[in-house]
Amino acid sequence: MKLIIHRGDKEIGGSCIEIRSNSGASIFIDAGLELYGEKAKLPKEIENTDAIFLSHAHPDHFGLLGRVSQNIPMYCGEITESILQIMIAFNGDKFDKIDRKFLHFKSGEEVKIKDISITPFLTDHSVPDSYAFLVKTDGKAVLYSGDFRTGGRKHNCITRILNAVKKPNILIADCTCIEPREGSIKTEEELAEKITETISANSNLPVFAICSAINVDRIVTIYKATRRNKRIFVCDIYTALILWAMGKSGVKVPQITWEYVKVLSRDDIAKSQRVLLELSFKKLGFKDFRDIIYRKNTSITAEEISKNPHKYLLKLNRVRDIQKACGIGKFVLIYSMWSGYLTPEFDKRGQYRDLMGDTNIIFENLHTGGHSASEDLKRFISGLDPESLLPFHTNSQEYISQNPDTFGNINILNLSECNQELEV
Ligand SMILES: [Zn+2]
Ligand SMILES: [Zn+2]
Repeated sequence: MKLIIHRGDKEIGGSCIEIRSNSGASIFIDAGLELYGEKAKLPKEIENTDAIFLSHAHPDHFGLLGRVSQNIPMYCGEITESILQIMIAFNGDKFDKIDRKFLHFKSGEEVKIKDISITPFLTDHSVPDSYAFLVKTDGKAVLYSGDFRTGGRKHNCITRILNAVKKPNILIADCTCIEPREGSIKTEEELAEKITETISANSNLPVFAICSAINVDRIVTIYKATRRNKRIFVCDIYTALILWAMGKSGVKVPQITWEYVKVLSRDDIAKSQRVLLELSFKKLGFKDFRDIIYRKNTSITAEEISKNPHKYLLKLNRVRDIQKACGIGKFVLIYSMWSGYLTPEFDKRGQYRDLMGDTNIIFENLHTGGHSASEDLKRFISGLDPESLLPFHTNSQEYISQNPDTFGNINILNLSECNQELEV
């Protein structure tokens, strides 16, 4: 077995891994965009691979897949395909189209590609339907953890992986957060409590929340905090559609058909998303959603919100426009995403800095990440007890080399010494 890391071991993002068997069969796992710096290029070897497996619907894992030839089969989870296509339809300026059908795998069910066996395992991450992969061939086994955490609502998935996999030859582990951090919020439930407290401490003020529409665990957290304060949850069309897609796949998450969930769909503010929905709902297979989102019992208008704005939690991104349309003065803003997006490097137009600097806004940064905290990650690694460890998806090479005891006695691989290729 040969393991080739095309990218992603010395950065957070740009993930792209290939595994080849001795007979020449090849699979790729992910082909993502880079988070920082230059645009990632597609490795030319991908055009000769037998299949590509996508771990989850984040652009640093799927971002380059639209450039791969149609004749190469691609596999992902069923919900991942829905989320991916909605995301692309609503963010066409950011992502390449992926104009094709995926083959679907299921957690725990082996897929055979020639003499390579791939078993996906559902894992816990900040987008639903994320997977780890156990890859076996030539009598060897590699486990790719995928991006994962242990503090979400699917933390039992991690126990299932630990029960199913023992002593892989190589563990490729998401080491985004290997460096210990003090005082951060560790679990979704802890976060739900903090958000609940923030809302109840400001019962006379409207509350906005900013988070990723595809971080469905987080939407559920915010919804719970909203209902604990007896408020109504209002979201945009894009968020409502992601939730609808989850619901259609049998996952119980807030829906616009629920009494205390509303979508802002009829106002001028919603026009750009309305246009995107009208262009894409048939192809995406969501005629049922489109049929109901403009109805009075599922939607709400800015005018209706303006009558009692403190009765709502507004999970809406265009905060300034909504503020104006609803006649809102002072308000609370719960920011629940990676704090890096607040820096000038990512916040190029200064929209977050404008909100943070406004004395009329109570800006609360309340978030927990999608990657395992240091101690949990170490427990995961020692539980698997791999022969060798390849720290992946991380900027912490220096920390790892300066703290050789971080992973106990496990052999740590450094691929720059072997040209990114490894004979397992
Ligand atoms: Zn990632
Ligand atoms: Zn991810």
